[in-house]
Amino acid sequence: MPCDGPAAVPLCVEFSGVTNDCLFCRIAAGEIPATVVHETDTTLAFRDIGPKAPVHVLVIPKAHHADVAALAEAAPALAGEVLAAIAAVAKAEGLEDGYRVIFNSGPHSGQEVAHVHAHVLGGRPLGPMLAG
Ligand code: 5GP
Ligand code: ZN
Repeated sequence: MPCDGPAAVPLCVEFSGVTNDCLFCRIAAGEIPATVVHETDTTLAFRDIGPKAPVHVLVIPKAHHADVAALAEAAPALAGEVLAAIAAVAKAEGLEDGYRVIFNSGPHSGQEVAHVHAHVLGGRPLGPMLAG
């Protein structure tokens, strides 16, 4: 991506140590700050910037995969590591009364960031699975 002015700087690869402008790759690389709650060699968990529940943590593989199907196809062992990280986050966040895990995938889900991520939501009764 070319650097063509100040507006392009936040996503400009010339200022980046990673080879793409994926937001979550840049968080995994430490280039964009996040409140990290759990980390392994291959996974990272950090608080969602717009929490929808008292606990709202995003769990990602550090490696880029677009969605859960791509992750499962390309790296099934890593998919298992993401699930283990989800369980570790739930335990560390004290979600013994339960929690919800959501992998938005594709346009109908409203997925906004094309780097697979699990939403881990909890801290209160979460109500029906879908609003409408
Ligand atoms: P999606 O809609 O793709 O399933 O979820 C993307 C999530 O990423 C949203 O819940 C949104 O609040 C969160 N998000 C977007 N930008 C940032 C950011 O810069 N930092 C953090 N921590 N979360 C973000
Ligand atoms: Zn990425």
